[in-house]
Amino acid sequence: MDSMTTVTLTAGKRVLFLTRDFELIRKQLRGELDLTMDDVSPDDLLDDINTDVMTPAWVCFDYEPEELAKNAYAGLVEHGERVVPERALYDADFEVIVSGERKGVGSSRETAVQAEKWSGIRIAIAASFAPIHAANNINQGVLMGGYDLLRRLQDGEAVPLEDFTRGYDPIRKLIVAHGGLFNFSKALRRGEVEIPRPETRARSLTMAEKTIARHLVGGAGYVKPGDAVLARVDGGYSHEFTSAQVHYFLEQECGADYTAANPDRFAVFEDHLHYADGVKGMMPYVDKIRTLREMQKVYQRHTGVRDYSVRDGISPGICHEVARRHIIAPGDLILATDSHTTMGGGNNAYAHGVGATEFAHLVHAGFTPLTVPESIRFELTGELQPGCTAKDVMLWVLMTFARREETLNRCMEFGGPGLASLSMDERATLANMATECSARAAMVEADDATIEWLVARRPGVDRALLRERVVSPDPDAHYDGGVHSIDLSAIRPMVAHPGDPDRGIPSDPTNGARVDEIGDVKIDIAYGGSCTAGKVDDLEMYARVLKEAVDAGRAVAPGVRFFIQYGSVDVRDHCERAGLAEIFARAGATVLHPGCGACIGCGPGVSETRDQVTVSAINRNYTGRSGPGRLYLASPLTVAASAIAGRIVAYEEGMFSRAGG
Ligand code: SF4
Repeated sequence: MDSMTTVTLTAGKRVLFLTRDFELIRKQLRGELDLTMDDVSPDDLLDDINTDVMTPAWVCFDYEPEELAKNAYAGLVEHGERVVPERALYDADFEVIVSGERKGVGSSRETAVQAEKWSGIRIAIAASFAPIHAANNINQGVLMGGYDLLRRLQDGEAVPLEDFTRGYDPIRKLIVAHGGLFNFSKALRRGEVEIPRPETRARSLTMAEKTIARHLVGGAGYVKPGDAVLARVDGGYSHEFTSAQVHYFLEQECGADYTAANPDRFAVFEDHLHYADGVKGMMPYVDKIRTLREMQKVYQRHTGVRDYSVRDGISPGICHEVARRHIIAPGDLILATDSHTTMGGGNNAYAHGVGATEFAHLVHAGFTPLTVPESIRFELTGELQPGCTAKDVMLWVLMTFARREETLNRCMEFGGPGLASLSMDERATLANMATECSARAAMVEADDATIEWLVARRPGVDRALLRERVVSPDPDAHYDGGVHSIDLSAIRPMVAHPGDPDRGIPSDPTNGARVDEIGDVKIDIAYGGSCTAGKVDDLEMYARVLKEAVDAGRAVAPGVRFFIQYGSVDVRDHCERAGLAEIFARAGATVLHPGCGACIGCGPGVSETRDQVTVSAINRNYTGRSGPGRLYLASPLTVAASAIAGRIVAYEEGMFSRAGG
């Protein structure tokens, strides 16, 4: 395919303005109204259109873009009615869609872009775009621009493509010029595209920079933040929510006999929807969920990637937990189709989530375009007090650095003398919740504990080779986000509270507060599980609290349900061997097989009414994610102690044997 140089509007195609006045949208969809930029002020346009509005979760159960496009904008609702009815965008002849500020905020789901593109949209116009949504548009070859460009197009001008891609890095300019990532890659293979290698001279590097520099296609070199590079990818994974699309795109773009570059280091997981069949709200989608599972099997058999499918009705575990135990090594560059892929940074890897298109491309090609991120470093000193955990550290970081956007799109680097006091499971929590900090990735320095933890879980692995791969920052590396000391001994038990959405304060992981500041909060549900809090050490923490309670003659408080869900079969086996499962049962907790479950609203432990209060060890408390109730995030120790107390309390050793505990 020749690359594009100018952009014009197509005769007979139309422009859809997403106005605050929904009646105007309806008239445009019915073909009763055509608008131009001269008719509309930017203030008339919808701001903050989030990806949930564009493709609500239920729409994503359709994996073929043609199908999900029929429900584009299903989440735009007025008085319970869809503003954009089924097929309304799909059947119309729009090629441009126009909105206000921050188009595509919210979750990173790529289906939002697909819904527009497969409805015929090739140009998205907005005052600004959310960064991940913008990246997804670029990978799908959808042009983005501002109102001035639309005016010129509507005036009949052939606008140079360069005007749409001003400010893009050289690789992204090429991707757009070729109509998307796959077309760009094909042109690259045919030798029609030359990628300029970064001209960055030898310099001191952060951990993220060093890892990317070691993975440059064409040989190791030096990089700096903002450099656009092609990087080799060591491995990655997808799950049943995303694998079907990965397979679909590979077949479409590379043919039915497509191949995977390095199947040994890639995997599929059946973890996200395993419990969905039993959830009332999921009943209408059971058939589609089954199709997603089947399509993942087809993809796995086709590629030979590692298979972590459900066996005998049990999921092997949550992808991030299993991957860090079995797949990810120090110094790796790992990309997967899920935002909490950052958890691999606990193993000293550079890891983050990508959309299905980018993932499909890198499965086949073995490399991907990357922009080198800025870094922010956290020097840990001291040791956590009893009753405090890595979760409390991250809830504090969210309340401070993340709330001020100092972690935004950066790699969060963790090191310092205090790191040695944190187990590998606790380090994984730091890296996991970098996602809630809106960071690009996180990397934790490696030490002997890292190597020994990996050796213990991977029989036959070469210890010396693992050591060779370890990435450490150069002593005088530059951190755009600064170097910040965190005294672990000063951290106190924390929550993130559910805000007050009715008064415009959204439920958010950055709503930090100390447990002793929130007053008397009675709970209905306690949940301990998820990738963040379903690891061995988390389960040990629940058991520690529950054992103390059981020994003092206590159990889960009347009226409270405490759900404990294993992060993986390995974790379950540990709990059964070590007698933890027995403690859970004696305390009256409900123990669940491994999987994502309530964390994604797909399993036992979700709230059922708005007035229910949950304290949960998961990583995010966005409204509606785990049911309609109010959800407080807290550490495994706080969750377990609260389950016994019936209200949110911090754990203190001996609290249940004391009167009134
Ligand atoms: S446990 Fe929750 S946050 Fe983790 S991968 Fe599953 S759905 Fe995502």
